[in-house]
This record gives sequence, C-alpha cells and structure tokens, in this order.
Amino acid sequence: MIDKIAFKKLINSFDNKKQFYFCCLYGIDSLSHIQGSDTESIKQLYKSFDNNLGKLRNFLEDKSTYEDTLIIITSDHGHSNTSEHFDLVEYLKSKNKSIFYYPLTFKKLYKKFDSSVMVSGNSMAHIYLNSNFNWSKPFSFSQHEELINDLISQDAVDIISYKNPKGDIIILSSRGKSLISDKESSIYYQPLENDPFDYSISEGLYDENQLLDLTYETNYPDAIIQLLQIFRSKRCGDLVLSANPGWDFRKKFEIPLHKSSHGSLRKRAYDCSLNFKQKN
Ligand SMILES: [Zn+2]
Repeated sequence: MIDKIAFKKLINSFDNKKQFYFCCLYGIDSLSHIQGSDTESIKQLYKSFDNNLGKLRNFLEDKSTYEDTLIIITSDHGHSNTSEHFDLVEYLKSKNKSIFYYPLTFKKLYKKFDSSVMVSGNSMAHIYLNSNFNWSKPFSFSQHEELINDLISQDAVDIISYKNPKGDIIILSSRGKSLISDKESSIYYQPLENDPFDYSISEGLYDENQLLDLTYETNYPDAIIQLLQIFRSKRCGDLVLSANPGWDFRKKFEIPLHKSSHGSLRKRAYDCSLNFKQKN
C-alpha cells in the first residue's frame, strides 16, 4: 500500500521541469522484517512493484519522455530469514555494563554509561565501549579482551571487527583472524591466523575492484571494502558485530517479532540487484 502511494506521488509530482526524481519504496523491507523474506505477500509486493513500474513507463510514454529518461532501480541491502535472537543489551547488562541504547536515548536518564549498543538492520551492531566512564580515551582491545573473546564464542556472533592502536582493522571470527590497513591509494590485507572469512586471499596490496573480484563468489562478497567504509565513518562503533545466518541482535520477545534481517556481512543479507534502462 505504502509503495503504491509513493508511486502515485512520483507520477503526480512529474512536471517536466525537474531533472531528477527520487522515490523510496519501504514496503518490501518493512513487510519482510515482520513476515519473513519469502512469503506469498512479499512475492505479491514484488509483482505490484513491477505493475507500478509498468504504469510509470506508460505515463512517461504518454508524455513522450520515456526515451529520454534514465531509470535506475536498486536496493541498499538484501534480506535473510531470522529465527534466533541475541539481545546484546541484555548480554552487556549481564556483564555489569551501564548501557546507552536505542530507543532509550534520553541523555538525562543515562548520565553515566560505559557502553552503548546500536543495532542496524538487526543483524549488524555497533558497540561503543570505554573504561571507567571516560569517553575521551580511545578504545583499547586489551581492556576489553575478555568481553570480545566471550562475544566471539556466542552462536549469534559471526564476525567482530575493531581498530588496533595503529588504526588497522582487525577481523575476528571462530575461523581466524585478519587485518585490513587503509593505505592512501590501495588496501593492504593480511590473514593473521587462517582467514576469518575463509577467503583464499594472500597478504598484499589490492585495489577495491580486485577485492570485489576475489570475494564476489564467496559467502562474504566485498566484506573487506564494506568494513573499510564502515570504519571510515566517525560514528562507527568500537566493535562492529555481524550476525550468523538465522540470527539477529534484537530482543527475543520484541513486538512485532522480526522474522527477517539485513545488515550482516553475509551474501544473502546484502545481495541486491541493480537495474537500469537508458537510451539505446
Ligand atoms: Zn530493514
């Protein structure tokens, strides 16, 4: 329904004057979270998207502008069914942490907190940690080593990443450990103990396209670049967690229950298509 309204708005706003139109369709994502990503209703939503696209095409043809219009259709992530929940907030509370987390983000209620959890897409989470309630000091692995080792042993947790004091990204999984170094014109990758992604990439300098090619057919396509981009953001957590298939980092008894997730570094969670139509 919401997508139908969005398409209608898009068509109604067309006035031949604007050069660029952007339309965001939330329906498939929202319903997938609640129902699971492969139900009959979801398939119906894809069909209705296709139908609405046809209407848009007819509309543009009637206006004689279809041939001169570039249409790009893409998504920012995929979806993967989820049946198990690992409540990171409760987990950190059990480790005696005082936590700042969404939706309880009113600062005055949380004057003193030594950790924060922000879940994204439900199968990725950022954890922010400090020592002795001092947020001015940078994250230090050695002060949180016990917690990190305990987290990586949890069934829900697939990958944990953090920065070492030199600014390199360290990646941990139950399968191994590796390092990413953000060099100016290239990316240095070094497996330290086996490989946390099960990649067969040897130590060395690569560019973004090479790393995409080398990882495209694996369970973690482009994960090195994805992590690099995440860690370039100032808002990035001290720990970045990616969930195992079937898991998310939300509450067990939340309302509504989430049956599908995205955000993790696994193929299914961010596999999405890019289609475009242009002249010729
Ligand atoms: Zn979503």
